[in-house]
Amino acid sequence: MSETARIIDGKAFAARLRKDVAAGVAALKEGSGITPGLAVVLVGENPASEVYVRNKSKHAHEVGMAVFDHRMPASAEHDEVLAMVQSLNADPAVNGILVQLPLPDQVGERAVLAAVEPAKDVDGFHVINAGRLMTGETGMVPCTPLGCLMMLKDTLGELKGRRALVLGRSNIVGKPMAMLLLREHCTVTVAHSRTQDLAGECRRADILVVAAGRPEMVRGDWIKPGAAVIDVGINRIPAAEEGKTRLVGDVCFAEAAEVAGAITPVPGGVGPMTIACLLANTLTAARRQHRIEAAAD
Ligand code: NDP
Repeated sequence: MSETARIIDGKAFAARLRKDVAAGVAALKEGSGITPGLAVVLVGENPASEVYVRNKSKHAHEVGMAVFDHRMPASAEHDEVLAMVQSLNADPAVNGILVQLPLPDQVGERAVLAAVEPAKDVDGFHVINAGRLMTGETGMVPCTPLGCLMMLKDTLGELKGRRALVLGRSNIVGKPMAMLLLREHCTVTVAHSRTQDLAGECRRADILVVAAGRPEMVRGDWIKPGAAVIDVGINRIPAAEEGKTRLVGDVCFAEAAEVAGAITPVPGGVGPMTIACLLANTLTAARRQHRIEAAAD
């Protein structure tokens, strides 16, 4: 196979989406005097979380949102984190609440996520929002699968009738991704660690979304020629140069790019879209809380 896949440029797509969000924020401010507000709660000092939170806050500022950063010590008690979430629920200046995961062991993640007011749950992790996605009601959709869907629609147009395989069944990526593809009338298979003949399942898919957290697991010969491949995985592995590391996805990019019709790179694919979708969700949440219609909602 000598053809080379179209590279889906998530970085450029995310920049366009952020521009649209900035325009939406400006219109909301001008039309209604409302500044969408995003509250970010970070508990502890996980270096990766620090980077994520800094990026999210920076981009939210750039699109004109109000950002409320709440840092809590690693020793924060479960009830203190809950109280923080409850105060943000009650704050009318806050339209979106993001609790950065993972939380320290003494803080119950499930209870904290369940405490977030569903209308402000811009990560889309609350069971109410999961249920709304499942039943086809309007809710907040998790950012990573939402970004994947946007890139797929932009690349392929109509998704109806296509055979999709989602590799991974987590609550934050795999399951909501499968639901979104089903909503687009794809024929969806969800694969996981107990799936038999995983390569064969992948090979049947016109759309392959991989979120397994296994570096370069999906090889070129697992991919149907011409398929659209979305690689959600972010894995840091040792680089050729001594002591250095590099980021790779769950798909072996060099092999897959020879077979696929289109593919997202890592980095520069799904990652940037996730943050842009968080901003889009925050704008959507602000509009809904103020009962302001938008063509895109
Ligand atoms: P989880 O660990 O929660 O889920 C991984 C899924 O992959 C599970 O369903 C698991 O199956 C399945 N799996 C693991 N190993 C295999 C295997 N060998 N064969 C088949 N299936 C397997 O991960 P997440 O969904 O949270 O994240 C997945 C990846 O996406 C990670 O690399 C993460 O860093 C990345 N990520 C990237 C984001 C972004 O913005 N780009 C956002 C979120 C995540 P089982 O259920 O049977 O255990």
